[in-house]
Amino acid sequence: MSLANRLIEERRGRLAAERLLELKQAELFAANRKLDKHARALSDEITVTRAENQRVKSDLSAAQEQVERTERRLWQSIETIRDGFAFFNVDQEMIMANRAYLQVFDGLEIIKPGVNYVTILQMLTDEGIVDTGDLGPGAWRQMMTLRLQQDAPPPVTIQLWNGEYIKMIDQRGPDGDIVSLGLNITANVAHEAELREARQIAEDANRAKSAFLANMSHEIRTPMNGVLGMAEVLRDTPLSDEQTLFVDTIKGSAEALLVIINDVLDYSKIEAGKLDLAAAPFDLEQAIHEVLLLMQPAATAKGLSLSLDYDLFLAAEFIGDPGRLRQVITNLVGNAVKFTAQGHVLVRVTGVPDAATARTTLHISVEDSGIGIPKDKIDHIFGEFNQVENERNRQFDGSGLGLAICARLVELMQGEVWVTSTPGEGSCFGFKVTLRNGGAYDAPSLPLGFADVLVLDAEPSSAAIWARHFSQAGVRATVCDGGQAAQAHLQQGADLVLLDHDHLPGAAAKIDAQGVPICVLAANPSDVAPLEGPHIILQKPLSRQALFSKLSALDHGGGAPRRMRVLAAEDNKTNQLVFRKMVQDMAIDLQFADNGREAVAGFRRFAPDLIFMDISMPLMDGKEATQAIRALETQDRGRCPIVALTAHAMEGDRDQIMMAGLDEYLTKPLRKAEIRQQIERHCPPQAMPLVKAQAAE
Ligand code: ADP
Repeated sequence: MSLANRLIEERRGRLAAERLLELKQAELFAANRKLDKHARALSDEITVTRAENQRVKSDLSAAQEQVERTERRLWQSIETIRDGFAFFNVDQEMIMANRAYLQVFDGLEIIKPGVNYVTILQMLTDEGIVDTGDLGPGAWRQMMTLRLQQDAPPPVTIQLWNGEYIKMIDQRGPDGDIVSLGLNITANVAHEAELREARQIAEDANRAKSAFLANMSHEIRTPMNGVLGMAEVLRDTPLSDEQTLFVDTIKGSAEALLVIINDVLDYSKIEAGKLDLAAAPFDLEQAIHEVLLLMQPAATAKGLSLSLDYDLFLAAEFIGDPGRLRQVITNLVGNAVKFTAQGHVLVRVTGVPDAATARTTLHISVEDSGIGIPKDKIDHIFGEFNQVENERNRQFDGSGLGLAICARLVELMQGEVWVTSTPGEGSCFGFKVTLRNGGAYDAPSLPLGFADVLVLDAEPSSAAIWARHFSQAGVRATVCDGGQAAQAHLQQGADLVLLDHDHLPGAAAKIDAQGVPICVLAANPSDVAPLEGPHIILQKPLSRQALFSKLSALDHGGGAPRRMRVLAAEDNKTNQLVFRKMVQDMAIDLQFADNGREAVAGFRRFAPDLIFMDISMPLMDGKEATQAIRALETQDRGRCPIVALTAHAMEGDRDQIMMAGLDEYLTKPLRKAEIRQQIERHCPPQAMPLVKAQAAE
């Protein structure tokens, strides 16, 4: 390289170095400036922080002062409280206690902050400060210790040696501290005792008053009977019209007065605690019927339907106080009739038996379609002397005690009363009682021979009840309110008509003498015009038991010619068809049963004059079915001939079958002549001739 070049090179190097120097100097300068700025900011910040620290310090001391002042005030307040107040830490050591708390210990040195709760208890008993009563000191301390160990210790009242009462209320804080408050309730306890005594005196006085009333009403009743009895005697002597009116007024007033006296007597007896309930076996259904029978004239006079819906599967016999139950029901039914101008009054009885306790919870309700009770009155209806005051109601007399007595009687029986009502639509009063079950119960059963009953009744509620009773007894029941439909159903072969004369007067005459037996129900049987065909007339109200047993008279005594009834038990449909064809030109009523069980049911329902019984059938075979039927047969019905149909044509089978109670024996395949021969042989005298008159089946 030439010198000139080297010089150029050097110069370039120097220039570059100078530029780098300049650059670094500029950077250094900038860094210095930044450092300077930061130092200044830092010194500013230090100044501010110092000032802040100063302020915080003074704030802190102000706050501390405030806390101390508040604490002082709090303690001054706590000290002024007359009730004891103390704090305990999680180890049950006293942190603080107010004067009232410490006062109880009467200056005992040891009781001061730091003392343990256990020591406090020990001191209380050792020094005789607390009266530990029946517990004794040890047990008392244990009780108090255990109590405080609970998360939420229950309040406890302790009695001091001087007769003062302290109620201890302790509360545990989140960190285990306990705040303990001892309320002096001596005045309250004394007041309570005074109140108890005053109440006892008042109750005694009330009982004495009730006893007096009970005695007085009893005394008044005796001469009242004289007044009433003599008025009746007088009524039967020759009297002028005016005198009759006077006597009737005396009698009416005496009766009304007697009702009031009886109510007062009952009510005061209950109030005086003098009413004891009997426990005797009785028939509830019968008891209700007796009540309805009594109320029937009043209901009939107003044109009301009065009925009982007694659950068919509910036993009738219970152990209880029949007189008092009857009284409650009489009252409710009496009110229902009194406050209903038209429609119905319905008593409903259902029950839930409990096999484990041999008791049944009965629900008895009385429903009416009367004037109802306004909403604002309904809550007080079971109170004393509460009558719903309004224009319509004022026309009815009464003591206003009836429902109060009902409620008290049901209460005595450990039951409940209730009422629901819609003004203008009606009311439903009900009660629930649990009674011990009476004797063993068999649901009443219909006499044999009814399969299809027509219930003719224009009152839907009573029609529905009878229809249900019949269906529950296994009989088809159709409800009809008269007219064309009734005639149509009669044509179809109903074998009984149950007719309510009061709701459909004249209907009996229309369907009379059509060969179907009629059972007429009437409140007054003499109102029913004489009928020609088979019939019975029964007085309403009557129980299903009474109806069912009376129907047997109809069944047997009707005398109307009817077709012979044949029941064929045969599970095979083809055989059923063959059988039907073989007898199709005979005037018989033929029914089939698909198995032994159906055969027994058919026997009950259909009361056949002859049964053909297949031996091998599902569910229950022919031999078992025959035995069941034989067991069912009552003496008055006599023995129903049963002809065995069997494929078992072997020797020995015959004896076995006959042993089961069958009378004849036919082997399959069935032969027309044999079947017909059996039918002819067993045709009862009261049946129609077997030759078909007109249309064949
Ligand atoms: P009373 O002897 O006056 O009938 P109750 O205590 O038996 O006394 O009844 C109180 C009142 O409750 C009756 O006066 C009547 O206003 C009302 N009441 C009771 N039963 C019925 C009812 N079935 N329908 C409408 N109101 C009724």
